[in-house]
This record gives sequence, structure tokens and C-alpha cells, in this order.
Amino acid sequence: MSTKIPFNKPAMVGTEMQYMADALQRGHISGDGYYTRRCHALFEEQLGVKKALLTTSCTHALEMSALILGIQPGDEVIVPDFTFVSTVNAFVLRGATPVFSDVRRDTLNLDETKLEALITPRTKAIVPVHYAGVACEMDAIMEIANRHNIPVVEDNAHGLYGCYKDRYLGTFGVMATQSFHETKNFTCGEGGALLINDPRYVERAEIIREKGTNRSRFFRGQVDKYTWVDVGSSFLPSDLLAAYLYAQLERRDDVQGKRAAIWQQYGDQLPGWAAQNDVRLPIIPEYCEQTYHMFYLLLPSLDARTRLIEHLKGQDILSVFHYLPLHLSDMGQKYGGQPGDCPVTEDISDRLLRLPLYYNMTSEEQERVIDAITSFKV
Ligand SMILES: *Cc1c(COP(=O)(O)O)cnc(C)c1O
Repeated sequence: MSTKIPFNKPAMVGTEMQYMADALQRGHISGDGYYTRRCHALFEEQLGVKKALLTTSCTHALEMSALILGIQPGDEVIVPDFTFVSTVNAFVLRGATPVFSDVRRDTLNLDETKLEALITPRTKAIVPVHYAGVACEMDAIMEIANRHNIPVVEDNAHGLYGCYKDRYLGTFGVMATQSFHETKNFTCGEGGALLINDPRYVERAEIIREKGTNRSRFFRGQVDKYTWVDVGSSFLPSDLLAAYLYAQLERRDDVQGKRAAIWQQYGDQLPGWAAQNDVRLPIIPEYCEQTYHMFYLLLPSLDARTRLIEHLKGQDILSVFHYLPLHLSDMGQKYGGQPGDCPVTEDISDRLLRLPLYYNMTSEEQERVIDAITSFKV
């Protein structure tokens, strides 16, 4: 029996426990303590965003963005059809109607050529997702959004430190959201961040994150007492989690470097087999600096994918498919989704398979995966 190769193992760089112990020692383990502030400062310095706020998840950061933008029943929000449910649920929770955009065949990102036709007077937000940490066509998306005066919220759950034409993902929209779930490149188990680029939204974001109070201003000495000033909830993670996350963010180059090497190894070893078996590998436009979040295969058919999953499972290797088309889900159909609405998503979601890729993956493990794949005949 060989040992199992999982699809993912959460990254551990080694300093996490030491920083968590230090957070305990400092005596402030609720939100916005020492390590939370260090994470905020690091994002603001490295990415150049106006304000970074850690949250309890990317889902919550998306929910915050919907509250900040004042999304209401009757509003429409454009999302890619091929994404995680939170991208859309955050807005549906506020009563918005989701409008699903099909994706591009190459990057599987929101198809910017179909975007403008989906805009109506009710459109209140556009939420592109940088799938696998490969940038959407941000020049075109921002041009269309700006011309119609519609705010863009980037769901950048996969894309921290990725770039589009030498500019960081998460710095294009009025806001962007990050995830530190254990399946993402940098993690604290469950966590996220809201990055704010438009300074008009900073104060309201702080208030909504602090239960609808102006407590952030109080702590900075800007007001002499704090009180209820707006709607809000509790979106702050414990400083213990921020300490865990900070340990990983500090090792940014190490984490991204290891993932890049593993991704590149797949990219070097699989093209011959892929060409012979009619399998498509990821396409990274040359002006996109990706985050090495994911390596996927596009098999020629659902049947081929099912057989490859079984073949790999037989060798104790776990591979997984990804999002089902949102418009055909139970909820999507309630919003009128029908077969044929988003043909590219419908086609690729049946054929996409993600390979094991994690920070601590050994070269022996990866060789086993590559050998198992190249011994499979589609
Ligand atoms: C993981 C993910 C989320 C949700 O992140 P959580 O931190 O688990 O809430 C949202 N959008 C996308 C595209 C994701 O991959």
C-alpha cells in the first residue's frame, strides 16, 4: 500500500505556533490586536491598497462589500457563472438578483466580451473572479464598469500577489476580497480580508465590521465615546488567527516559490501526454503573473474525467473537480437559469480536474502523481 496523496494539505511554514504563543502573551486575543495590525500594514504596504481589514472569511468580506455598497432588493449583480457560491450568495443575501456571465474558454474567467450586454439600469456591482489566480481581462472590465459607473468588487480568493500587467490583483476594483481558508495559498484555517481601494468606503467598512459602531475611531482617539451609527455585524477574526496568518505572509516568497516549482513541474512533465490524449492544460496569458494556486486538466469528456479520477484513486491519489455552473444549481434555476445560458461553463465544468498541489508536497509525491497520469490512456 502506498501512502495517500491528498488533494490539499494546509500550508505550515513553521513559525505559526510561536506567533500564536506571542499573541497570547500580549494579552489581546480578540480582533484588531498586534498581529491583525501587522497583517493590515503588510497588505497596505505590499499591495498599495488604501485599507486592508482582516475578516473571518472571504465569504464575510464579500458580505461586507454588499453591505458597504448598499445592495438592495431589485438590484442586479453580475457574477461569473463559474465560481464558488459565496461570490453570489453575499449579494443574494441582500436581496439582489444574480446575473450570470459565461466565462472565457482560455482562462475560465468572466468573459468581458459578454459583459456589457448584461448591464441594465439596475446593475449595482460587477464581481469578477480571478480563477486559479490568473487575472481577468481587467482593462476591458474596468473600462466598461467605469463607463457605466458601476463599482467592481474583485473576488480575489485565489489571486493574492498575482498581477495583471504588473499591477496587483485586488487593486483594480473599489474593493477586493481575499480568502485564508485552508485550501488557499496562505491560510489561518478560516479567514479572509477586505481590501479597499476607494477611500470613500473606508469609514463605512470599519463601522460595518465593528457591529455598526464607530469603535475603530474611538480606539484611534478620534471620538471620545463609541456608539451605534450604522448597520453592521462582527467580522473580526481573533488575533490568534491573525498571528498564524502573519507567520505565513512573512514567508510569502517561500510559500509562492514552492508552489511555483510544483506547478512548473506539472507544466513541464504533462504537455506530451496532454497532446496525445486531447487534454488541455492551463493557459496563462503572458501579461498575467499567476499565483500557482491551482493546476488543472481539461479532459475531452466527462467520461474521461470520471475514469481518470478512478484511476488516480486506485493509486491513492486524490484529484477533484470544481464548480458546477451556478445558473443550473437549484438556486440558479430559481433565478431563471436554463441549460444553454452559459455554454462555456456548462462544457468545461464537466471536464475540469484539479491535481494535488500544496506547499509541503514532496518531489516523490509529485512524481507519483505525474507517473499515474501519464500511464493513463484517455
Ligand atoms: C474559497 C473561495 C471563497 C470563499 O472563501 P472563504 O474564506 O472560505 O469564505 C470565495 N470565492 C472563491 C472564488 C473561493 O475560491
